[in-house]
Amino acid sequence: MISKALLKEISGIVGKENLITDGEQMAEFSADATKIARMPDGVAFPSNNEQISRILGLATENGFPVVPRGAGTGMSGGAVPVQGGVVLAMDRLNRILSIDRENLVAKAEPGVITADLQRAVEAVDLFYPPDPASLKVSTLGGNIAECAGGLRAVKYGVTRDYVLGLTIVLPTGEIIGTGVETRKGVAGYDLVRLIAGSEGTLAVITAMTLRLIPKPETKRTMVAFFENVSMAVQTVSKMTRKRIVPAILEFMDRLCIDCVREEMHLDLPRNSGAMLLIEVDGNPDLVVQQARIIEELCGQCGAMAFQMAADDESAEGLWEARRNVSPSLYKLRPHKINEDIVVPRSRLAELGSFLDAVSRKYGLPVPAFGHAGDGNIHVNVMLDKEDPVQLENGHAIVRSLFEKVIQMGGTITGEHGIGIAKAPYLAMEIPSEGIQLMKRIKKAFDPKGILNPGKIFT
Ligand SMILES: Cc1cc2nc3c(=O)[nH]c(=O)nc-3n(C[C@H](O)[C@H](O)[C@H](O)COP(=O)(O)OP(=O)(O)OC[C@H]3O[C@@H](n4cnc5c(N)ncnc54)[C@H](O)[C@@H]3O)c2cc1C
Repeated sequence: MISKALLKEISGIVGKENLITDGEQMAEFSADATKIARMPDGVAFPSNNEQISRILGLATENGFPVVPRGAGTGMSGGAVPVQGGVVLAMDRLNRILSIDRENLVAKAEPGVITADLQRAVEAVDLFYPPDPASLKVSTLGGNIAECAGGLRAVKYGVTRDYVLGLTIVLPTGEIIGTGVETRKGVAGYDLVRLIAGSEGTLAVITAMTLRLIPKPETKRTMVAFFENVSMAVQTVSKMTRKRIVPAILEFMDRLCIDCVREEMHLDLPRNSGAMLLIEVDGNPDLVVQQARIIEELCGQCGAMAFQMAADDESAEGLWEARRNVSPSLYKLRPHKINEDIVVPRSRLAELGSFLDAVSRKYGLPVPAFGHAGDGNIHVNVMLDKEDPVQLENGHAIVRSLFEKVIQMGGTITGEHGIGIAKAPYLAMEIPSEGIQLMKRIKKAFDPKGILNPGKIFT
């Protein structure tokens, strides 16, 4: 619990209208999308580096936790103030600072909503590809801290690949500019790549220089249904062999297809065991050519149905099943444990068989959907958390899923991060020497352990 005197000091730094301590007002800053909640002692809304530096300096001196927060859409509890303290909300640091069309870079503050930056750069025919499904609400700061992925990661990469430079404030209060403002740069250690994905545990990001690319001229959307996962995976392999990298390559399994069909009353083929949603983009001639090859490949691999959108409006129709899959799954059970594992994409069929087997063994539905193109699959263990047997079985499925994924050469999280939700499992993937090194890095940035404590490491 932070003393009243310290809260008064923080109020003096940000101005009393920019610090809230009232329980009711603070409630919305106590949780993220995991719904795990813990009340902070205060929520501060700083507006510049100096204010953040002074708050962090005060925290290091007095030993209270500080938790950076974007929009609170995180899926691993990263922004939850599990040990109380002050939440640093980035809402007021929300300006797009510049868009440089000559050098293809943009500068922005961390509280900018991802979709707002995308719209601004697309208005001048440029493109910022990272597209987490939460992009209409999540912030650039939160995206960098989690190294968010998204649907287009298969072709364009993840958030980290678009961050050239950062301004950060260390827990000790130092303000540091790191990285470059140019397209290249290798001076010293790459702190930018270290901060991207560090889940708000090493430094507070206060500004960023982002890499842009030219906006693709056109795109084509297709959907294909297969009898089973193997046929869908075979289609993906064939696309790779034809050197086609779709901008989007999404997958849904049988249970997901059945749920959206029933919940949304969509006309999806019955008895279909896998769906691929495919989008190619770029030069118009190439797009037409690639779409035609993909249609042929789907046919060769035995697709039971194939549809190509003629225009943007009909493409929206093809997206409907994928967009609605997550909420539709609640028809199976009232709760879900949502994991975002990654496996080599050539082994997706093996993953599918494994999920069928654990589902049967533990008596819980385990639907899976996600980014087939990069092997990043959202595995949903559906259960009633009020039932202790189901809860125990749910956790057993998660543990055996992680064992399987690691054995397959994959990772336990592709984009949601470790946070608090996966902290108990980190040691399954990272050997103890690796964890010790990470802890030494954490200590170098944050000697008193005040920045977002309780995250990543148990
Ligand atoms: C419906 C839905 C769909 C989603 N889809 C995707 C998806 O497709 N791909 C994907 O990768 N994720 C997805 N997510 C997860 C989430 O949106 C991302 O992790 C996103 O990057 C979080 O951004 P945020 O602004 O909400 O951050 P928050 O949840 O507020 O914070 C996330 C982490 O970042 C830290 N942080 C925030 N701002 C800063 C800062 N300025 N400096 C340092 N640390 C900071 C926090 O401390 C916390 O650890 C989805 C979430 C939802 C609810």
